[in-house]
Amino acid sequence: MRIVIIGAGPCGLGAAHRLAEKGFTDFAVYDRHPYVGGLAASFRDGRGFLWDFAVHVAHSHYHYIDRLMEDLLPGGFYHHERRSWVSEYRTFIPYPFQYNIRHLPPAYRDECIEGLRELAAAPARPPPSNFEEWILAGFGRGIARHFMFPYNRKTWSIEPRLMGYQWIGDRVPTVDLARVIRNVEQGLDDVSWGPNHTFQFPKQGGTGAIWKALAARLPSGSLHLSCALTGLDTQKREARFADGSRETYDHLISTIPIPRLAELVGDEVMIRRARQLRHTHVHVVGVAPSFPIPEPLRDKTWIYVPEEQHVFYRITPFSTFSPDHVPDPARHCSFLCEISQPGDAPMDAPDPAPATLRGLRESGLVDADPATTHIFHRKEEFGYPVPTLDRDAILGDVLPALEKLNIYSRGRFGGWKYEVSNMDHSVMQGVEVADRILGGADEITLPQPNVVNAGKR
Ligand SMILES: Cc1cc2nc3c(=O)[nH]c(=O)nc-3n(C[C@H](O)[C@H](O)[C@H](O)COP(=O)(O)OP(=O)(O)OC[C@H]3O[C@@H](n4cnc5c(N)ncnc54)[C@H](O)[C@@H]3O)c2cc1C
Repeated sequence: MRIVIIGAGPCGLGAAHRLAEKGFTDFAVYDRHPYVGGLAASFRDGRGFLWDFAVHVAHSHYHYIDRLMEDLLPGGFYHHERRSWVSEYRTFIPYPFQYNIRHLPPAYRDECIEGLRELAAAPARPPPSNFEEWILAGFGRGIARHFMFPYNRKTWSIEPRLMGYQWIGDRVPTVDLARVIRNVEQGLDDVSWGPNHTFQFPKQGGTGAIWKALAARLPSGSLHLSCALTGLDTQKREARFADGSRETYDHLISTIPIPRLAELVGDEVMIRRARQLRHTHVHVVGVAPSFPIPEPLRDKTWIYVPEEQHVFYRITPFSTFSPDHVPDPARHCSFLCEISQPGDAPMDAPDPAPATLRGLRESGLVDADPATTHIFHRKEEFGYPVPTLDRDAILGDVLPALEKLNIYSRGRFGGWKYEVSNMDHSVMQGVEVADRILGGADEITLPQPNVVNAGKR
């Protein structure tokens, strides 16, 4: 039996690692890039700055992943406490926003409380039918207007009413009115919510160091970089690559975006269906001014920016994660600024760096002089898989049709389920599909996101 894996991101590497761990070595991994790690790779630029493609928090839902990380980089992680904030109205509000609205200007704070009181007094309603209704039903119109709507519109580049809410699970804290009022009246900050309250980050080499270490463990000769899959013959079970080489397979594990895979399979019905899946483009603008990290940003792990006039939806003071990220922390700091675009927008949009620097200055976050600030810019066509209302129906058509051809599409854009598309989930999608192919074990992560997100497995 020969297994071919397309993509050397966390999912493809997870599958390969599991096969090798089980003593199966008749496999090969291919990636179009000259590096491993996919969206979770890190890049050291010519000036000595290290950049991730946006902040990558290594939080895990699986004991298997905890053991793997420690084994890959023994003692190689810093353990950080999450201190996330919202920046708007030129003030900082600790996250979760809904429990810290006392920091808002008083009129907006009262509007948020009023919205929650209306909810508490309202009669029972039928379950929401989309994300917009879910937000209004859970947070009230004030929190919706001042945070949930603008932030989600910016991140997803789509109206919340076009999205489902099945993906939310443990990702968004719901609201307890009594707790909100207590925090306002007693002047309390309430921050210790959520699954990634503490997280680990590699001391050296950024997030990409994890994937380099994992790739280094694969059997020699099994990893082929700079080798893009360009064609598939599903009858002959043959994969064709840009350099002219070919590989026959019994099973193909693909981690490339589903619409691209459907085009390679060449089935018109599948292609049309797969194109209905929505995604975002993501740009990351790395900003490195020539001064050490400013005092107000020193205690912040990342900052959500809902205001429409600023181009980015989140910024991360990346040099606070590890001194390895800048040549000299006494003279430099660095920020990752994330920008979202709809998946059908042209990829050659104007350089977002000037608007990023302007937004940082006008929001009062970072006053970086464009003349002396070092900039890094990277864009990815596939950034976020959008959980639209019809997503599960589309996946229900496409994924089983692929499996009939012995093609298993897994990972962030191979499975297209945002709720199980973080690094830990992606590795486990690879591990579980490898176990299924080798021994018929049931997969859990892709078919049952709520089970894996309910607690550590
Ligand atoms: C902005 C942003 C922030 C994120 N933050 C976090 C976070 O905080 N924590 C977290 O856990 N996760 C985070 N993630 C998610 C994380 O990046 C993914 O979980 C992970 O990279 C998915 O791994 P994957 O292998 O499924 O896909 P990818 O990383 O997309 O890997 C797919 C691979 O397939 C290759 N490929 C594509 N087409 C071809 C082809 N034709 N031939 C050969 N190879 C091909 C690509 O080059 C790529 O290497 C974030 C992602 C983004 C975009």
